Amino acid sequence: MLNGHRGTMVLSLDFELSWGRFDKMPLNELEAESLEERPHIRRLLALMDRYEIPATWATVGHLMLDRCERDASGHAHGDSTPHAAYSWLSHEWFKHDPCTDASRARAWYAPDVVEWIRGTKVRHEIGSHSFGHIYYGDPECTPEVAEADLKAALKAAKDKGITLTSFVFPRNLVGHLPVLHELGIKAYRGQDPMMKGWGFGPILRAVHYWHQLRGIPPYPVQAEETLPGLWNIPGNQFFMPKVGIRRLIPMACQVRRVKAGINQAVKRGDLYHLWFHPFNLNAQPDVMFSGLERIFAFAARMRDKGLLNILTMGDYAQRLDESKHPLVLQR
Ligand SMILES: [Zn+2]
Repeated sequence: MLNGHRGTMVLSLDFELSWGRFDKMPLNELEAESLEERPHIRRLLALMDRYEIPATWATVGHLMLDRCERDASGHAHGDSTPHAAYSWLSHEWFKHDPCTDASRARAWYAPDVVEWIRGTKVRHEIGSHSFGHIYYGDPECTPEVAEADLKAALKAAKDKGITLTSFVFPRNLVGHLPVLHELGIKAYRGQDPMMKGWGFGPILRAVHYWHQLRGIPPYPVQAEETLPGLWNIPGNQFFMPKVGIRRLIPMACQVRRVKAGINQAVKRGDLYHLWFHPFNLNAQPDVMFSGLERIFAFAARMRDKGLLNILTMGDYAQRLDESKHPLVLQR
């Protein structure tokens, strides 16, 4: 607990475009959805500027590239091996990499968006969402694969003058923490406690649905130092998109739940951590943005009253580190 009368809100965004779901849906649909994201991202950045809400943009490393190409043997990113290979996926991980330049494949590269994020009034953090959106927590992902992937992400960022210190696991599948620690990551978003041990089964979905409808506060969470200087900053609320059965949940219920989560964090003096993907704004964007505006306005009011810090994952981890050594800091 950082202190007993002020809560902390963290907002993290998983930015992945077409890297996030090529194993889940037809490529043409996926690319079309990815290309819808940019206007929503611009609108989101403007809204965050208006309410001075910083976020951690956990970005797939490949999106930072201006271009890439296949080598003589036809492989993409042969300099960052071993690549992920999972028995449930019939092809190699980079099969769909267009290996062209950013202007020709805007669903697979987004250095333009990275610059938008860096150019806002409010200071966001660019974090990592891996290089190729591989699954670190999959039992078939070896430490060598995780290390090669994270090194590629660090390099893509470094080439843009960005140092990555926060990490969000693709699909929230936590794994290979010693690799993160070794390569300089200070914070990661651990799993929502409600998901732990439950998976995404029908019972959990039903419970979740009920909690959403009733505006019941999310499970309380607090940061934990998993390895020296590496903080788990668990998520505890996913801002749900207007798709499938979830679209029946009124936005007012979701906003009420966020406010309850923030109030709970203030009361406990710990964390409230909201997250989503920019593509979650694609369906019914006006409804989604009206919800976000109410959330941001509430959070900003709580901050103005001195009750809430609104921090990036990186800034929160740094404060947590400093709070461990208060005497050193006073000197
Ligand atoms: Zn590539």
